[in-house]
Amino acid sequence: MSLYQYTAHELRDMLRRKEVSAAEITDSVLERIDSLDSVIKAYVTVTAEVAKSMAKAVDAQLAQGSDLPELAGIPMGLKDNLNTKGIRTTCSSKMLENYISPYDSTVYEKLIKSMSPLLGKLNMDEFAMGSSTENSAFFNTANPWDLERVPGGSSGGSAAAVAADEAIFTLGSDTGGSIRQPAAFCGVVGLKPTYGRVSRYGLVAFASSLDQIGPITKDVTDAALVLTAIAGHDPMDSTSVNKEVPDYTKFLKEDVKGLKIGLPKEYFVEGIDPEVKTKVMETVQKLEEAGAEVKEISLPHTDAALATYYIIAPAEASSNLARYDGVRYGYRSETAPDVLTMYKKTRSEGFGPEVKRRIMLGTYALSSGYYDAYYLKAQKVRTLIVQDFQKAFEEVDVIVSSTTPTPAFKMGDKIDDPMSMYLSDMFTLPANMAAIPAISVPCGYTEAGLPVGFQIMGPAFGEGTILHVAYAVEKLTGARERRPKLPEKGGAACE
Ligand code: GLN
Repeated sequence: MSLYQYTAHELRDMLRRKEVSAAEITDSVLERIDSLDSVIKAYVTVTAEVAKSMAKAVDAQLAQGSDLPELAGIPMGLKDNLNTKGIRTTCSSKMLENYISPYDSTVYEKLIKSMSPLLGKLNMDEFAMGSSTENSAFFNTANPWDLERVPGGSSGGSAAAVAADEAIFTLGSDTGGSIRQPAAFCGVVGLKPTYGRVSRYGLVAFASSLDQIGPITKDVTDAALVLTAIAGHDPMDSTSVNKEVPDYTKFLKEDVKGLKIGLPKEYFVEGIDPEVKTKVMETVQKLEEAGAEVKEISLPHTDAALATYYIIAPAEASSNLARYDGVRYGYRSETAPDVLTMYKKTRSEGFGPEVKRRIMLGTYALSSGYYDAYYLKAQKVRTLIVQDFQKAFEEVDVIVSSTTPTPAFKMGDKIDDPMSMYLSDMFTLPANMAAIPAISVPCGYTEAGLPVGFQIMGPAFGEGTILHVAYAVEKLTGARERRPKLPEKGGAACE
């Protein structure tokens, strides 16, 4: 086995036993990127020197015999909407193609303190709007399980990199499913924390009342490790919550006896791919056989969630994206004769079609005369969705479903049909609306060999509980054992 194939916790143990050096690990992953990323195209920017110098610092500390943080020497990548001082943060947009932020996001700062080497910045849908990474202004990213399929989105680069062993772990952001949906499509673990659990300082804002940053990892143990490293209160983000961060790895156990699991009847409807449904139901059965109590529950406002999200998210986006005017940030059209034309041309040329669609939807929903009919109403429906979950969690410990209605689709299949693209988030976005934590863990594969994601939602700050159930699912299904067949060093396909 090559070093790039191991998980973060395995590498941590190997480092401590002095079986490997941090430099060897980082070099191994950098070589993997070198040989494979021309096929997967997960990275917008590779920061080999930054990674190498951190690995060197880790080895120096190891040589001195000092204690190391858990993630020391474990190389990772960041979605390209997380600010990194001195390294460009593009949001996969022409608007920010050459933007270099003057400060670090809090999550990156925490990973620097954890001595985790930064491999680079990962491709995404422009400004995190999309479900396939096809909205990147630069290039498409391939799904490592089938190169003709999308990796999901918007954190498609982050999920594909982990699945293809081009990073040991990555961070993504999730506004309506952008960590969990690509994790499901790529057969890796993706966790969206409770709103306020992780600081959003330095995350380029999309929809501020919904955005959260979270880990994408090879297994559940790594998700717990990374969450422990990035969570916590931050005075720079007033929405981050001052609540102690437990060691999330302490929650990982296989035993689910007596745990109450809710199956929302609104999530097992027609339109969900039969193979996906079968795998999810088989997993539920395994949990039940292992001693969990499974019961049907109802989240009655589920069918309103998508419409509500597509008012609230674009409304917040239209306001957040007003700052890209060619004066303060990024791209500026140079050919305009006056300032108003300059604004217009900058935004017409700098934003791609999906971002423009969202800005128009959002501006319309917020405009006077329509505000009460759309935005205010959507906020009220959001409260009903929050209450649905609160009621459900009086009865059950976790709520489970499939992460997505279908497995990864082919590139080009949905790009001209925004409505069908939006539907791929129907099971993930309610958790953002309700501000609760949710995780996607692989639970099996379709006949065609595509991964199926199992979603576990928990009550606010119930990250420990959803990690516990996810860990049990990982063990009960054994889905983590299967890896994508990818060419090694441009050679023949290998297991
Ligand atoms: N796919 C959803 C959207 O396009 C969610 C995106 C996200 O979570 N960033 O808005």
